Amino acid sequence: MPAPIRYVQDSSHLPEAVDVVVMGAGIAGAAATYELAKKGISVLLLEKGLVGAEQSSRNWGWCRQQNRDERELPLIIYALQRWEEIQHETSEELGFRRSGLLYATQDQTEIDAWDRWGKMAKAYGVRSDILTAEQAKAMTPGSTTRWLGGVSSPMDGHAEPALACAGLVIAAQRLGADVIQQCAVRGLDISAGKVSGVWTERGLVKTTRVVCAGGVWTSMFCRRHGIELPLGNVIGTAFRTAPIEQVISMPFYTAAFACRPQMDGSYTVSVSGRGRLEPGIQSLRYARQFYPTFKSRRKNLSLRIGFKPFFTGPETVASWQFDARSPFEKVRILDPAADMSMVQEGLSAMRKEYPTLAAVRAVQAWGGMIDSTPDAIPVISPVEKLPGLLLSAGYSAHGFGIGPGAGRLAADLIAGDTPIVDPTPFRYSRLVDGSGLDAPGMM
Ligand SMILES: Cc1cc2nc3c(=O)[nH]c(=O)nc-3n(C[C@H](O)[C@H](O)[C@H](O)COP(=O)(O)OP(=O)(O)OC[C@H]3O[C@@H](n4cnc5c(N)ncnc54)[C@H](O)[C@@H]3O)c2cc1C
Repeated sequence: MPAPIRYVQDSSHLPEAVDVVVMGAGIAGAAATYELAKKGISVLLLEKGLVGAEQSSRNWGWCRQQNRDERELPLIIYALQRWEEIQHETSEELGFRRSGLLYATQDQTEIDAWDRWGKMAKAYGVRSDILTAEQAKAMTPGSTTRWLGGVSSPMDGHAEPALACAGLVIAAQRLGADVIQQCAVRGLDISAGKVSGVWTERGLVKTTRVVCAGGVWTSMFCRRHGIELPLGNVIGTAFRTAPIEQVISMPFYTAAFACRPQMDGSYTVSVSGRGRLEPGIQSLRYARQFYPTFKSRRKNLSLRIGFKPFFTGPETVASWQFDARSPFEKVRILDPAADMSMVQEGLSAMRKEYPTLAAVRAVQAWGGMIDSTPDAIPVISPVEKLPGLLLSAGYSAHGFGIGPGAGRLAADLIAGDTPIVDPTPFRYSRLVDGSGLDAPGMM
């Protein structure tokens, strides 16, 4: 079942030529489109399905600095500032609130890890307050567990995945951007070794610059042009409850469940860290790069082996011509099944923790396929061997919160402006030449 989204009206026509084409209207593409339009650049956003309908509407909505990889800190710090600014300057409700985030635990190793992280983050001006058992209890009124402690990150927040992409896209349209849905980019037109256009299912659009923000589809798209992009796919599950008493006032993590209060009085809930692997050819192709992560996260991953991923979706090794139907049009909206046992587990954990929520029930559950890089930080980078192409993908299960920062960085790079942060950690080359490919630093 898809997650809820706000719908967007298409622009009236497909332009013949623009300065920049953005492929994919998830948070990365929507934010890049908004920032490009704001710079006065003519931009066309093309989406094979509907704005925000894949990962970007299916996530928990956490916008966190807490526990991030140090390499991402400057960008997420800027992203949180940008969430506030964009909501203000566009008057669009993106659901962003600096609510703070709260983690509580009975495990000393978790507290130690949060403490180490907080000391590192302090140098960046990020606040992360370790909580004693009493403080954790005081911040979780009505909970039943005797916490050993916790961590509170008062500068973090959350936004509304159902609203964010649509809000950004509508604001971009007001600034002159064109947006066409149900219009896949089949491939790049290349002249003299440079991007000269995009082939869409409605014909050729001339452009010399393309932001490729296709989420889990990006690796397949790149391979069609001889560009290797090692991305691994994992499926997460989340669900929404019916509106019920708001005893939890901010995004809250425990080992048994994680939840976020929504604006309508419901909660988005999931079981922390869980995922499902449904490997196809792409997973096999990049198995070596992902083996260390797989090994360290094995206990939280279930494996479903079947033929389907080998024949349809982003895991296939498809070959297609630009004048015929492409794999992107065959799956307008990727809608993996929710893991219903996890939904039950999350509900039970929530009821057990908060007896006042005994009547809580799930009204909607969904799966979302997540694209990860081997070092779990994204690629926001030009590709040297194909001038005009900029990749923005591999957000590794935490791309929603950083989205507005990522959009600004992509827009700066493609426009040739001074980038808002140092883009070096996000360079494409690290994934293919092995330079600086460190272990994931995120918790
Ligand atoms: C269950 C779950 C929980 C998560 N929780 C969080 C969280 O709390 N906080 C957080 O920060 N992140 C979270 N994430 C991760 C976050 O959702 C993603 O990192 C982020 O949404 C990725 O955005 P994106 O724009 O790169 O990709 P997407 O949102 O997947 O967008 C890519 C778009 O490109 C389109 N597309 C692909 N190919 C083409 C083509 N050829 N032509 C045209 N369009 C194309 C697709 O249709 C899609 O709409 C979670 C993810 C999941 C699934």
